[in-house]
Order: sequence, then structure tokens, then C-alpha cells
Amino acid sequence: VLPEEQPAKGHPKQLYMLFFAEMWERFSFYGMKALLLAYMVTELKFDEPKGYAILGSYAALVYTMPMFGGVMADRYLGFRKAVLFGGILMTIGHLVLAVPEDWSFFYGMAFIICGNGFFKPNISSLVGTLYADNDPRKDSGFSIFYMGINIGAALGGLLCGYVGQQINWHYGFGLAGIFMIAGLVVFYLGSKSLGHRGLPPSPEQLKQGVFLGISREVIIYLVALALIPVIVALFNRYELMDYIMFGLGAVALFYILFVAFQLEMLERNKLFAALVMIIFSAMFWAFYEQNAGSLNLFAMRNVDMSVGDVNLPALSVNNFLPPAWVIVLSFFFAWLWPALNRKNLEPSTPLKFAFSFLLLGIGFYLFYFACTMNEEVGLIPLYAFVAGYFFIICGEMCLSPIGLSMVTKLAPAKMVALMMGIWFFASAIGEFLAGKIGALMSVPANVVDNPVLSLPYYATILNQIGIGSIAIGFLLVLLVPLLNKWMGNVR
Ligand code: GLN
Repeated sequence: VLPEEQPAKGHPKQLYMLFFAEMWERFSFYGMKALLLAYMVTELKFDEPKGYAILGSYAALVYTMPMFGGVMADRYLGFRKAVLFGGILMTIGHLVLAVPEDWSFFYGMAFIICGNGFFKPNISSLVGTLYADNDPRKDSGFSIFYMGINIGAALGGLLCGYVGQQINWHYGFGLAGIFMIAGLVVFYLGSKSLGHRGLPPSPEQLKQGVFLGISREVIIYLVALALIPVIVALFNRYELMDYIMFGLGAVALFYILFVAFQLEMLERNKLFAALVMIIFSAMFWAFYEQNAGSLNLFAMRNVDMSVGDVNLPALSVNNFLPPAWVIVLSFFFAWLWPALNRKNLEPSTPLKFAFSFLLLGIGFYLFYFACTMNEEVGLIPLYAFVAGYFFIICGEMCLSPIGLSMVTKLAPAKMVALMMGIWFFASAIGEFLAGKIGALMSVPANVVDNPVLSLPYYATILNQIGIGSIAIGFLLVLLVPLLNKWMGNVR
């Protein structure tokens, strides 16, 4: 990074280009996810366990692909080509979903899965290239970027949720597509300002013919496209996903252990600490991601959405609330951690992780408590729903942004990109488990329209998630001294 390119204060101007590209991409990503489960069970008439299985498989694959997209960009494509290619695939996916035909559904999702693998990890890496490693603005640069993610997610959930649920599902998906085009255009026009950043590590190697004279670059694109029908086939045989996810999980685990035992003790202990926290993060997402799953249907059936004379659209409310809380709470946490730090009271990363489970558990327990208080009407009040999410998102703030920097600090230098992929892969395992937990909240078709009868199906499991999460939080508290020791000089 050339010093003359950098203003002494503020952030590099390219951050704002990446901010808006990612904002519109997340608008479409979360806008579409807001509709997914409700569309499957109400429009496609999938039975609920199947809806949860497809949702879990989709989200799991979405977060598995960054491992591959990240490595391809690192080795061959460079971040810019990868983001552009991923963005094009995602745009196609969203537009395909807007087509009101049966075939379009699985194909649209498959395009988004492949596209996200190239887009998501690499646009984050581009943010990293704007700063030197020791630049104190790096962390705040990432916080600003995380804000862009959540502004997009809040608007997408709000607008696509409304259009999809109230007007027409395919218009909702189409709206997501339009904003994905906006993200792509912002990136395409703005990427020239990145200068040398994110270019392919070796352009000659990329242009080299490797098979029948076809260049390496084109081969990568063709392999990604060839994966699309494979993913569609997987959706049709979604029971195979169990083997794929747990198989990949085992491979990732053994690989990290294999690497760990070749390191000297200090480095190895750091990697162990990262591994334990990554495993816990998978459990966190398994509970948290009820948001885009079971809580969508719960919001439609068992939350009183009336405010005065208007009835708020449930999908909009449920998908707007979490990112909106993130935006509000970002300011609070940006003040809290440095303030505690000045008094030498800032909790260590493992302790923050423990808090995240305790807070998440309180949020879910509050949902359950509101259910028990309103059994006779079957509807919980909107303020209880808003308050439950407040605690859940406080939990997110103690884990998600912190986990990203934890990974970069604890991974051995040569493994940072891969460990970042594994951090997202923990989200994949979490999303997959979230589908399984959601399926436990399946409501039989004959009672879906009767809130008093559907409420208990949610209440029982919400209670168990709440208590389970608090128990895991306490277990983590017990592990904190060991994890702190393993982390050595890293806080
Ligand atoms: N909500 C964040 C994003 O979309 C983090 C998601 C995750 O890591 N599972 O980027």
C-alpha cells in the first residue's frame, strides 16, 4: 500500500465502493433467504420437514463453497476476477428464481451457492488489502464493512419480505435480482480504483492452456458451472447431504489436527484454541439460524403483528429485526470494548464467546416465556419478539465480528486464508444443524391456521434451545482459563 494513496485520517476511498457492492449483494442474499422457507411450504406445498431440509442444505452449501472460492482466488484468479464471476452467477441465480416455473427453484439456488463461494470470502479479503497489517484502521474498516452487510440485510429482508409475502413470491425474488445487479455494477465500475490490488497472482499462469488449449481461467469457470447440475441433483436427493456435511467436517477436523501436530507448542496451542472456538461457533449458528428458518413460520403464525389498525408483514419484521439490531448495537459495542479495555476489564475472546451463548439463550428463553404467557391466544406480543432478538443479537455481537479477527490472529501465518474458509464452514455445519433443529418445530398441516394449536410445537423446542444455549455458555465459562492459556499473548 503506497502511503500517498492513503489519507492520514479516515478510510481509503475504495472501502466505500466495497461497502456498497457488498451492501446490495447482501440485500439480495438476505432478501431471498427471507422468502425461502415460507415459499416452499405455502407455495410449493413441500411438507415442513422437507422445507427445513432443503433450507438447511442450501444454507450449508452457501457457506461451504467459500472454502473453494477462497482458495481459487488466492492461487489463481485474484480477488477481483473471483468477485466479478461470483457476482454474475449470483445475479443469474436470483433472476432464475424470479421465473415462475417449477424447474427454476433448485437451479436458482444452485447458481447462488456457486456464486456466493466466489463472491463472499473474496470481497472481505479485498477489504483486508486496503490496509497494511499493522494499520490501526484495519479493525474499524472491517466494522464499517460489517455495517454495510447489515444495512443491506435489513433493507432486503424488509422489502423482499414484503413484496414476496404480500404481492407475489417471484416478484420478491426478482427484486433481490435487481439489487444484485446494482451490487455487480458498483463493483464493476469501482474495481478500477483498486489499482494493483486483487489482481491475479500470476496472469501468465492464468492464461496458460491446460486442457485442449483451454486456459486455466476458463477451466475454473467451467468447473464452477459444471457444479450447478450436481447441486441440483443433490437437492433432489437431499438425504445425501448428511454424509457430505459430516464427511467434510471430519476431513476439516483431521486436517487441522494433522497440521497442529507438526507445529511447535506455542503455535499448536493457538491453533487448538481457534479450533475449539470454531466448533462452538457451529453450535451458535445452529441455534441462531432459526431466524431464517423456524422463526419465519413462527412470526407468520404466532406473533401478533398488529400495530394499531395495520397488520405488519411477518416475513419483513422477522428478517428486518436482526440486522437492524446489529446496526444499532454496533455503535454500543464500538464504545463498550475500548472503554472496558481502558479499565483493563475487557473480556478475553473465549469469555466473549461464552457470553454470546448466555445472551442467545436468554433471547430464546424469552420467546418461550412469551409463549407460556400467551397460550390461550396463541400469539405472543410484538414487543416480546423485538426484545428476544435484542438479546440474540447482543450474542451475535460477542461472536461473529470477534471470530473473524480471532481467526486471523490465531492461525499460523501460512494458513490464514484456509482458516477463514473453515470459519465460514463452521457456519455451514451450523446452518445444516439449524435445518434439523427447525424440522423438530414442524407443525402438522391441519393445525397451521390455528395459533393456539401451533404454538406448543414451537414453545417446547424454543425452551430447549434457550436452556441448551445457556448450558453451553456455562460449559464455555469453565473452559475459559484453558483457552486463555492456549492463546498465549493473543487476547
Ligand atoms: N451475517 C453475517 C454475514 O452475512 C455473518 C454470517 C455468518 O458468518 N454466518 O456476513
